[in-house]
Amino acid sequence: MYLMDYHHHTNHSFDSKAIMEDVCIKAIDKQIKEICFTEHFSVNPLAPTYGHMNFEKYLKDINDCKEKFQDYLTIRAGIELCEPHLLMDKYNKTLKPLNLDFILGSIHNINNQKLRLVLKEHHQNAYQLYFEELYKMVSVADIDVIAHLDLMKRYAYKEYGNYQLDEHQEIIVHILQKAIERNIGIEINTSGLSWEFNTPLPSIDIIKLYKDLGGEILTIGSDSHKADSVGANLRTAYEMAKECGFNYIYSFEKREATPIKLCR
Ligand SMILES: [Zn+2]
Ligand SMILES: [Zn+2]
Repeated sequence: MYLMDYHHHTNHSFDSKAIMEDVCIKAIDKQIKEICFTEHFSVNPLAPTYGHMNFEKYLKDINDCKEKFQDYLTIRAGIELCEPHLLMDKYNKTLKPLNLDFILGSIHNINNQKLRLVLKEHHQNAYQLYFEELYKMVSVADIDVIAHLDLMKRYAYKEYGNYQLDEHQEIIVHILQKAIERNIGIEINTSGLSWEFNTPLPSIDIIKLYKDLGGEILTIGSDSHKADSVGANLRTAYEMAKECGFNYIYSFEKREATPIKLCR
């Protein structure tokens, strides 16, 4: 199986201490064939991640690792953007010249408030606010894939359990239809499979719904912040993708998507 991890952080992200070279070594150990680093980045001074990224250093690390591991591992330079539908000119100006391979779009904050705090203030209604913000993102942002589509549950599940798809079906269908129309993919983010809750982000229902609506672009990522957990639960996610009816997952180079066949 051609294993790919399309969501990984290193010390180029404010919330990770992982060394890129260590991540690559662990990935090779685990028979992963392709990795895309997706460091946090925001152009908004109010975002927690603001000011951490040094693109020169990041791309140098990528190139050094590419050279070192070229016979064993394909390495892609990606990025995970906070709220890329806001400050779009600023994002565009910064990112265009870098010619990155892959862009994940995330909602980590709503009105400059972290999701955890949004939940505290709005309780279960926080889900609706989150999905509405996500719809704004997918309508205009220049991204390749939506990261962890139902991220709010990471904060809400302890108190409220999983949300019912029925309750938010309308907005979720709108999000997925808009994504499909704009050629934007979704990911199976496996980080949730390591919690007691044991669910991917998004939940299987949503992955199936995306497929049923005609969505094809799917990536799989661990969202790991440590070398040891690179590729965590990747094989499980590959099986889920097949169960949901996908025959391919996607690889990106210079933002060009290539389907990779899922072996049966
Ligand atoms: Zn994220
Ligand atoms: Zn991430």
